[in-house]
Amino acid sequence: MKGESYEIYPEADGQAAAAGALVFDIQRFCLHDGPGVRTTVFFKGCTLACAWCQNPESHRAVPEMAFYADLCLGCFRCADACPSGAIIKDARARIRYSRCDACGRCAAACPADALRKIGHPWTAPALAAELARDIDFFTDGGGVTLSGGEPMLHAGFIRELVPLLKKRAIHVTMETAGHVAARAFERPSGLADLFYFDLKHADDARHRALTGAGNGLILENFRGLTRRGSALQARMPLVPGCNDDAANIAGTARIVRDAGLSSIHVLPWHGMGETKRARIDAVSKGFMGKVPDADLLESVKELFFKEGIDALIYR
Ligand code: SF4
Ligand code: SF4
Repeated sequence: MKGESYEIYPEADGQAAAAGALVFDIQRFCLHDGPGVRTTVFFKGCTLACAWCQNPESHRAVPEMAFYADLCLGCFRCADACPSGAIIKDARARIRYSRCDACGRCAAACPADALRKIGHPWTAPALAAELARDIDFFTDGGGVTLSGGEPMLHAGFIRELVPLLKKRAIHVTMETAGHVAARAFERPSGLADLFYFDLKHADDARHRALTGAGNGLILENFRGLTRRGSALQARMPLVPGCNDDAANIAGTARIVRDAGLSSIHVLPWHGMGETKRARIDAVSKGFMGKVPDADLLESVKELFFKEGIDALIYR
């Protein structure tokens, strides 16, 4: 994609204020992204490319355009509005991504909302003010969750955002896959009150094959957070045929146990990311997965139990 860059190391503290961070969604009343009722912020950009990703629009660290073919009226006002000749007149596709710089003019001209820009920059004060509007809804220990993509790509920004939330006594959870430079996790109390940390596969080679990167850096960061005494909850996406085998469950349980933890949250793959993938210039190819059935969920819970780990299955 035009203008794209890729960097697994987050910006240094203090560099983020002027430019802001790219956010592609803010969802309210979330019940599975940490304790209580929460507002979840989805940052754009990821350092992994999991085959099964449910948020493929998070992968690129730049704004991008999505085309909703089912809404398109075929009027081609978008073609007249585009200064780059990037509009294609095809039933299923509308954008030639090699020419598109996501200026958004086509979306502004579209009468049907069939073209949408994904990713808008927020400054830390503006985002904190937006999130604080929901403060009355943060019941049962709720608050704000920082998700993605990989929120740790925006660690410098988050170190500016979190104090603004803490001033308002808002609890902060971060959902991370941990594949960023270890130095980004130093002084973790400035990043979040609680970390939800994804363990996608216990075996380094399988992890690389499934996500595009090995798990060495991830495990280093996972152990680093436990060493520093951070509040930490292990999680794993459960994807049949990828990481649901007994050997991986035992290996994952060992990692959790060795870190001094006793539970894991298991997130069954649901396949909803595939519709989103078709609307964008997706980084990863289509994934032909199978939604885990009740028997598999029960057997995974049992396998973890035998390893001394309490598995909470999200339904
Ligand atoms: S302006 Fe919108 S509705 Fe018209 S052709 Fe373009 S995408 Fe379709
Ligand atoms: S965002 Fe739309 S108008 Fe802008 S370059 Fe891309 S296709 Fe053209």
